[in-house]
Amino acid sequence: MLLPHIDTERCTGCGWCVAACPPRVLSLEVVAWRKRSVLHDAPACTGCSLCERRCPFGVITMNKLPRPASGQA
Ligand code: SF4
Ligand code: SF4
Repeated sequence: MLLPHIDTERCTGCGWCVAACPPRVLSLEVVAWRKRSVLHDAPACTGCSLCERRCPFGVITMNKLPRPASGQA
């Protein structure tokens, strides 16, 4: 399955990815005093990659996970 990895250090908090995400699993949250995009509901992410394509700064990369991480500590 594919999940977006957000490079929090480089995220500008512009919100384009949040608006582009169909299931609305991305949100802007304050991290280290700045707004950043956060994947708040990974299990509901469809892996569509729209957020990666929409980010103007190349901050998001889709990572292939060998298997869902649910159930792991
Ligand atoms: S891959 Fe698709 S569903 Fe998942 S966070 Fe990005 S836009 Fe949303
Ligand atoms: S589109 Fe890119 S820079 Fe803008 S909030 Fe999303 S990850 Fe951050």
